[in-house]
Amino acid sequence: MAETKQFKAESKRLLDMMINSIYTHKEIFLRELISNASDAIDKLYFKSLTDDQVGMNKSDFAINIIADKDAGTLTITDNGIGMTADELENNLGIIANSGSFKFKNENEKSEDVDIIGQFGVGFYSAFMVAKEVRVRSKAYGSDKAYVWTSCGVDGYTIEEDDKETVGTEIRLTLKDDTENEKYSEYLSDFRIKELVKKYSDYIRFPIKMDVEKSRRKEDAKEDDYSDEAYEKYIENETLNSMVPLWRKNKNELKPEDYNNFYKEKFYDYADPLKYIHSKVEGATTYDSLLFIPSQAPYNFYSKDYEKGLQLYSSGVLIMDKCADLLPDYFSFVRGLVDSADLSLNISREMLQHDHQLKLIAKSIEKSIKSELKKMLNNDRENYEKFWKSFGVQLKFGVYDNYGRDKDAVEDLLLFTSSAEKKLVTLDEYVSRMKEDQKYIYYAAGDSVSKIEALPQTELLRDKGYEILYFTDNVDEFAIKVLMRHGEKEFRNVSEGDLGIDSEEQKEETKKLSEDNKDMLALITESLGGKVKECRISDKLKSHPVCISSFGQISLEMEKILNQNPQNQKVTSEKVLEINPNHKIFAAMQKLFESDKDKFKDYASILYDQALLIEGMQIEDPVEFSNKICSLMAQ
Ligand code: ADP
Ligand code: MG
Repeated sequence: MAETKQFKAESKRLLDMMINSIYTHKEIFLRELISNASDAIDKLYFKSLTDDQVGMNKSDFAINIIADKDAGTLTITDNGIGMTADELENNLGIIANSGSFKFKNENEKSEDVDIIGQFGVGFYSAFMVAKEVRVRSKAYGSDKAYVWTSCGVDGYTIEEDDKETVGTEIRLTLKDDTENEKYSEYLSDFRIKELVKKYSDYIRFPIKMDVEKSRRKEDAKEDDYSDEAYEKYIENETLNSMVPLWRKNKNELKPEDYNNFYKEKFYDYADPLKYIHSKVEGATTYDSLLFIPSQAPYNFYSKDYEKGLQLYSSGVLIMDKCADLLPDYFSFVRGLVDSADLSLNISREMLQHDHQLKLIAKSIEKSIKSELKKMLNNDRENYEKFWKSFGVQLKFGVYDNYGRDKDAVEDLLLFTSSAEKKLVTLDEYVSRMKEDQKYIYYAAGDSVSKIEALPQTELLRDKGYEILYFTDNVDEFAIKVLMRHGEKEFRNVSEGDLGIDSEEQKEETKKLSEDNKDMLALITESLGGKVKECRISDKLKSHPVCISSFGQISLEMEKILNQNPQNQKVTSEKVLEINPNHKIFAAMQKLFESDKDKFKDYASILYDQALLIEGMQIEDPVEFSNKICSLMAQ
């Protein structure tokens, strides 16, 4: 008797979940086992193309399903690459999933539905329907075979086996039927056929099963239609059509076909927002099937996420995630490309420099872009849904590589605007600009309501100018790279001159500044280098003060950059602007003449207030509060 080994902790939990699953789609276990068989055959087939030793032709490869109703077992065999003892141990003994499987809350039962639907849980799903799983396997190139057996959480055994042919045989002993669950249904020819059609029709190798059929006996009398006139016989039937979906004609396919294919292949539980099926002929020839998911995968905005499309050469998978086929800003696209122009045994390094691949990538980028444009123009609702999930990625696309690709995505951008607080494109904004409006205005902050409270936005909104509200960290960085849209420059409402004054107003401000020169200088001085300058403001309406910045780094950028503890502290160059029409201005003028100490206190309070309004930290909250209190006590 072989020693029983324990599953690794993570696997044990998954296994436990599978065994006790209340998941309603237990049937997916068959899809998982067939995909594994097909992957294993793919590997050996791929080898056979360059290695005569394999001694197999494409037509030799097959997956077989054997249902034994008497024994209550379902067996799936393949003549693929097989597994060594180590591989049995490592692939089936520990959770195979590449880190995408995270338990959020192990005690939560409802979780199990999501997890199973969302990711392929692979081999372990067999335990949803089986009380025992036995895997006999002989690896290609090895002269020994092994058998792996497990009844679930108690562990598994691995022993030598007498399997003679290369490949793998997986036997499930189905659970006993209960009142609610009829596991024996998975032994019915009809049900198995249905499942193969539904989930595995596109598998490129035949999935075969002995199916019981009936035909008229040769010697049956012409008018005899009784049971005796028929005989049963067994036919080894191929259940799947084997034509990859992307090779089929578009007019043969229904949206459900695409949606199902997407969900099965890319383990999403929601239909894609859009699919793009192209057959391209010309400078390069390829079929492609691309999908825009309806929501971002949970790890999309993390380093773990790997972009890329599956790459096939004449129907044979040569790479699972070919990153070179997708620019970063379209990294959310899933799908595949199949081209006869690519050589099968091309190495990854060679592929990067492959001329054909570059042509294909260019053409794919174009088709994604035009599809998104179409959606933006004709199906705004869906586009906005798309934007919610992936807009940030497009904005990074503007910013990345110092704006190298900004033109590619500029037209696809959306921002919330002050007009109706709806999303607008830059073109839409510009088309609505007032005649006398010089700039495309924007304001940045944590949320729309915080931005609206900014003193600087009041006057602009009063004038009927639209303001773009930047609430994503990347927004302003992207806009700085863009600099302008068409002829129109972007302008931060907190940045210096907003270009809204008439010559007359400018004169007036200039005169006021002259007249109060000494007072403004004393404010600057008393703030001890915290601001570059104190100035008469022309952008305030009801508020007393605001802070503006000049130079490359805005206030919001300062906030964002300093959130990252690794960054060196950066500071924007600040200007304190004071509203000459506010009561406080007259009060300051008076104090400037009568009480310089108090004047300095006021200056410091005004500065801190301006910071607070901007949503920035003040340096010394205690001192600030003391100063206010002593004023209140007067
Ligand atoms: P995944 O298929 O996502 O890698 P699975 O849990 O389905 O995860 O399978 C785990 C691993 O077990 C596979 O990656 C493969 O290495 C191995 N495996 C499973 N079934 C077979 C098979 N029929 N032939 C060869 N290897 C297999
Ligand atoms: Mg699998």
